[in-house]
Amino acid sequence: IAMYQAKHLGKHGVQLHDPAMTDRRAADARLGEDLAGALDRGELHVLYQPLVDLASGRPVGAEALVRWQHPRLGVVSPARFIPIAERSGTIADIGMFVLETACRQVAGWDGVYVSVNVSPRQLQEETLVTDVLDVLARTGLAPDRLVLEITESALVDESAGIAKLRALRDHGIHVAIDDFGTGYSSLHYLTRLPVDILKIDRSFVAELNGTPEGSGITEAILRLSQVLHLTTVAEGIETAEQAAELQLLGCAIGQGYLFARPLPPARFLELLVSSVPQPSSPS
Ligand code: C2E
Ligand code: MG
Ligand code: MG
Ligand code: MG
Repeated sequence: IAMYQAKHLGKHGVQLHDPAMTDRRAADARLGEDLAGALDRGELHVLYQPLVDLASGRPVGAEALVRWQHPRLGVVSPARFIPIAERSGTIADIGMFVLETACRQVAGWDGVYVSVNVSPRQLQEETLVTDVLDVLARTGLAPDRLVLEITESALVDESAGIAKLRALRDHGIHVAIDDFGTGYSSLHYLTRLPVDILKIDRSFVAELNGTPEGSGITEAILRLSQVLHLTTVAEGIETAEQAAELQLLGCAIGQGYLFARPLPPARFLELLVSSVPQPSSPS
């Protein structure tokens, strides 16, 4: 609570009267109340954004991204409601809903894995490991087809969380660091984390412009991944030039509007089927 309040203090530690902030907090509170029943009312659903092998252009996986169809407000972005769910605790149920929905869905798709976001608060749940294993058992998804995406900030000083990730990895589940490069973890710290994949944050992909300055951080992350034997996924690829440069720099997998936006399951399946090379028809 002290931290929450500190964020809303002016630079001299004095609470500023800010009507916009008051409005925002009231809106957040209303949204939080609506969110409490959203799952039971069936207002949440999951979209799937292709994770593409940059060399072949084929989808190798899907990131599960939650959407909230609010009865009055229309689609509410997760960037807006996930932080609210984190504070109120509803993230636990929402997170499990996304995990189970995504695992069940992807169990029926051949040859692709699913990547699911896990929020800091979920990582603190005592039952995370058994919950995830139960979902895999119920849905029949093989553990090595599940990736859990964690942000760096969720892992800093979280030895309990790190132990859970280690246990999950012992069961064959993979772990990715999301938005890599935007957090504060030291490189030394990274070498001790139970991690398989680094996702290069889209802010670095956006800087790629064919110059050494533009590619500096991306190159450094790729080099680091190589040394640590990690896989890299580049986020937010919007242009063919970015995709080509990433491939040249040795990045294996990409994600972004260039390939596809987050898609409803039926559309993802269409894309999957059309990307598989068709056997030549008998003539
Ligand atoms: P994220 O995990 O980093 O997911 C990638 C976000 O980038 C998604 O936004 C995706 O739609 C967007 N994106 C993908 N390609 C591009 C591109 O080429 N350009 C641009 N500008 N954006 C692109 P989305 O779906 O709005 O999700 C935002 C964030 O909300 C996610 O960032 C993640 O942190 C969180 N989130 C989404 N679903 C879940 C969930 O089920 N659980 C949790 N805990 N967090 C979630
Ligand atoms: Mg993610
Ligand atoms: Mg990300
Ligand atoms: Mg991101």
